[in-house]
Amino acid sequence: MNPSGAPVRRFGAGHGVVLALSVAVVTAVAVLLAQFVAVVPGDRAYAAAGIPATGPMLPPGENPLYAIQEVLEKQSAALLRGDRAGYLRAIPATQGELRAQATARFTTLTALRVRKWTMTTIGIPGRVDDIWKLSVDISYCFDRDDCAPLDARVETRWAVPDGRLQLVAYEGSDRPWDDGTALVVKDGARVTVASADADPAILDRVLRAAEAAAVTNDRFATTLGGAPQRYHVYVAGDEEWLEWYGGASENAAAFTIPLAPGVSDVVVDHGTVTSDGWATTLLTHEFAHVVSLGGENPPYSAWWLTEGIAEYIANTDGSVLEDDLRSVRRYLAASKWDGTVTLGPPPSGTSLADANARYGIAFLTVQYLADRFGEERMLAFFTQVVRRDVAVDAASRSVFGTAWSPVAKDAASSIRAAAQA
Ligand SMILES: [Zn+2]
Repeated sequence: MNPSGAPVRRFGAGHGVVLALSVAVVTAVAVLLAQFVAVVPGDRAYAAAGIPATGPMLPPGENPLYAIQEVLEKQSAALLRGDRAGYLRAIPATQGELRAQATARFTTLTALRVRKWTMTTIGIPGRVDDIWKLSVDISYCFDRDDCAPLDARVETRWAVPDGRLQLVAYEGSDRPWDDGTALVVKDGARVTVASADADPAILDRVLRAAEAAAVTNDRFATTLGGAPQRYHVYVAGDEEWLEWYGGASENAAAFTIPLAPGVSDVVVDHGTVTSDGWATTLLTHEFAHVVSLGGENPPYSAWWLTEGIAEYIANTDGSVLEDDLRSVRRYLAASKWDGTVTLGPPPSGTSLADANARYGIAFLTVQYLADRFGEERMLAFFTQVVRRDVAVDAASRSVFGTAWSPVAKDAASSIRAAAQA
């Protein structure tokens, strides 16, 4: 399934989220400091260039909270009506980089059909020298008027040269639309793909693969709690791969971030999009997370079931099974497996081959449950354990009508048998 020969790995949802948050905080602080240093001498630039009539007037020394809220409200309204000039109004012409970033953001959000966008200030602006800083929560969503709102936080800094409020620094979120560079957006019937890669062939390939992946997953969604309104896929370039949602984990080729009930984003590394077949398998696996998790983070202990079902759904042409079996065979031949089927995520430092084997064992366990009890009951068991946080044994008794430990033992035997076949 991976014609380049290098083993790559689609990656699960839950674990990546913790990583994303911690990395995002560090990045935000670092970039803000850098921008702050760059901005302070700008006061001289205003004086030299003349002050464009941008933000609202403010009496000297007054806290700019209400003025900032007024600017943000106008900016939000401008964005929603597609008014680029209005969106940029509070950013002075002397702040070329800020205007370029804001223009890119406006372009991407408009292409993604932003339908809700509100900016809520957090607390009261704090003053350092002549700069006011303020955190802002954004609530937003795309495509439909009834879309489920998502949250992101950004940091802003403001100055009041000659009595007029102006934005002088902006530290964006780690969301792809806040990247600073406009993304190229393309829609299919069920999927919107936004790409940071300039190559249109990559965007087209991802969209083709994603549409096929959506057909498979929409079918499973009827049993798993409903399909998303629309699937969103973001194609990351090398830089974005390290930044969006805090960056991907080691060995990942793509990852899924649950955002809100019914909504998850999928991020794909542009370097992995090497063939239609592989891209389809990869996206079918990720969309399986979108559909099966329904935008919620899975319990950590249910890693095996979360990844197992994604492999199971992605195995449309048998290639996932073939690859996974190969990894499992080597793993078992090296006596690395103790027979536990309810595996957790690969510990850090796990080799790629061993990580692949754990995905394989997870898949073969889910396959065993489907073969023995039928797909419908396997999916019901998944729902109990992953979505409702029911203990594995209790779920097994209620769905399969038997205790979990003999089922796990039989599943392990079937995996050892498959690996020896
Ligand atoms: Zn996964």
